[in-house]
Parts: sequence; structure tokens; C-alpha cells
Amino acid sequence: MSGPDDLFSHTVPEAHAKFVAACDVAGATTRVIEHPLSGPDGEPLHATVARLGPDDARDVMLVISGTHGIEGYFGSAMQIDAMRRSRDLLPLDDHTAVVMVHLVNPWGTAWSSRENEDNVELLRGHHFCHHPVPPNPIFDDFHETMGYGRITSIDELLATRGRAIELVKRHGLGSLMEAIAAGQGSQPDAITWVGDGTPTWSKRLLDQVAAEHLGTAERLLVWDLHTAVGPPGETVVFHPYPPGSSDDELFRAHFGELWPNPEGLDFYAWFGELCPHLTTRTLICEAGTEQLGHDDQYIFPLDVWIKLHGDRTDPAAAPHLARYRRFFYPETDEWMSSVHAHFVPRWRHALDLLAAPWPA
Ligand SMILES: [Zn+2]
Repeated sequence: MSGPDDLFSHTVPEAHAKFVAACDVAGATTRVIEHPLSGPDGEPLHATVARLGPDDARDVMLVISGTHGIEGYFGSAMQIDAMRRSRDLLPLDDHTAVVMVHLVNPWGTAWSSRENEDNVELLRGHHFCHHPVPPNPIFDDFHETMGYGRITSIDELLATRGRAIELVKRHGLGSLMEAIAAGQGSQPDAITWVGDGTPTWSKRLLDQVAAEHLGTAERLLVWDLHTAVGPPGETVVFHPYPPGSSDDELFRAHFGELWPNPEGLDFYAWFGELCPHLTTRTLICEAGTEQLGHDDQYIFPLDVWIKLHGDRTDPAAAPHLARYRRFFYPETDEWMSSVHAHFVPRWRHALDLLAAPWPA
């Protein structure tokens, strides 16, 4: 058993099989898309698009799991739960549909990677297929000062751990962390690379979803499910709209407390650019995991370095890879039960928000 009601999975094929079976229970229509690459044990990898509700729905909620690969096991479990118990969790009226994209980045999920097969951080990467990537000089300074471009071994990467102090003095911790998280377009071999604007396999899949499922819709709520941010074992939600705006009030009215989001980038506004008839809103949910100390931040560049230049089968890599996976997917019964219980009421909050009038 994996967590409550066996909702959580350990591998992509396991999650895929559970999701497809749950869609059958719900009577959802499904389309399975095979990824061109396989998983670490040679297993085939699939994403699935599923739809519940009328074909000509005016309001559509698009629920995505796995944008950040390894984070996808949480979103997958919540999607499986909603499909298995759709009458209770997804009561839909005759002008509302729910479309789910299950494991939009199955390669990242299978390889316990936050990025996709091209080392693209997809959440921002999708957006930057439609807009130029702004320069990020603080990130460039970070990359150069840490010397990540010159690393040739795990030990060398571990030896960079003290160097960030210099950067914190230069830029301040907050600005440095924000610059790293904001994504960067200059270092394809580094963390938080947002790609070069070429649509990835996952972006092309979402473009197809827009073409196939949003043609008659007028309003779209995109709900992307992640892990790592927020108190451990709880879930938090946030949106990209300015604090105090009418949209901020709309989200607060339905979800209560919101997690602060100083970045303010609307990651999915591009659906409205693809489909000009659509009014879109974006909701991000995170299931909190452990809080990492400064000394543990090395796991992110180390994972990218091992993936691109190292050897995943090297025994010296194993504890670091396990640590990275556990950070994004703790996979303990306690964590799985806790985030599940915390998340379940959010289905109703999201459907109520979709049914409410939206500010112009
Ligand atoms: Zn994420």
C-alpha cells in the first residue's frame, strides 16, 4: 500500500495504471500519450489526458500533475482520488468540465528529476515559449562564482558549498534566492534553465489539450499541483495576481489563507494567448515537505550535474539522489496521509471559484 487508499505510487507505470483505472471508474474519456524516452529501468512512460463533463462546457478546470517531474507523485495521487470518488469530489453541473493532465513530464517523474528530458524547468519554460526570457545577471554571477560550469566530479561540487556566502553578502539572501527561482535562459546545463523558447514535448502536449478541449470554453482555471513549498505535511495555494486586487479577493474568498507569491508571474496566461476567446486564471498548489537548510541547497545543482555529466549508477551519487527525491517526494505514510487529508477540501474550493463571477 502506498499511503491512504493506495493513492500514491513509486513508479510512473504504477501511477499511470492507477490513474487510467480511476478514469474508468469515473467514466472519463482518456487519451494516453507515450513519451519517446523510457524510464531508468527501461519502463515505458506515459502522460494521460482525461476529461469529465460535457464536451461544450463553458467553464473548464484544467488540473495538471508532474510539471516538475518528481513532484508529480503528489498531484497524481490527488487526481486518482478525485477520479475514483468523482461523484463526491467533482460534482459537475452541465456547463462545467474538468480536464486532467496526468504526469505532463513523465520523464522527470520517472527519473526523479525536477526538470524534463532537456533540463528545462517547465513551469516557467512553458511561459517563455511565448515571451522572451529576461536577463538574470544575479543568476549569472551565482553560476560563475559557484564555478558550476567547471565541475568534473561529485566531490568538486560538494566543495562549492561554502561559496554562496560571498553571493549572499553581494546580493542579499532574498534577492539571490528569488533570482535563482525566477529561472534563467543563459546556462542550459544549470538549474532553473527555462529553455530556449522551443516548445518541449510537454508544452506541445498542453498545446494539443488547448486545441482539443478548450475550443468552446469561455473560462479556464488552470490548477497546477506541486510539492516542496509550505509547512511540511500541509498544502498551500497561491496565485499570480497583485495583493489586494479583485482577483486576490476572489481567491481568498474561496481558499482562505494564501501563500505569498512575490514573483507574480502568471505561469499559464499563455492559454489565453493561444485561445483569445478564453478568460484564464491560474492557481498553484504545493504540498509542503521538509525545510532545507543552507548547507543542503547543493542537492539541486548536484542533481542536474549528475544527470547531465555524471553517472547515476555511481555509488557515490546514490545518497545524494535519494536525498533529492525525498525532498520532493517524502513517500512516508505519515506525509502521504497528511497532505492528502489537507488537500481534499480544496477540490470544492476550486470548483466554487470556477462557478463564481470573476472580476473583469
Ligand atoms: Zn514545483
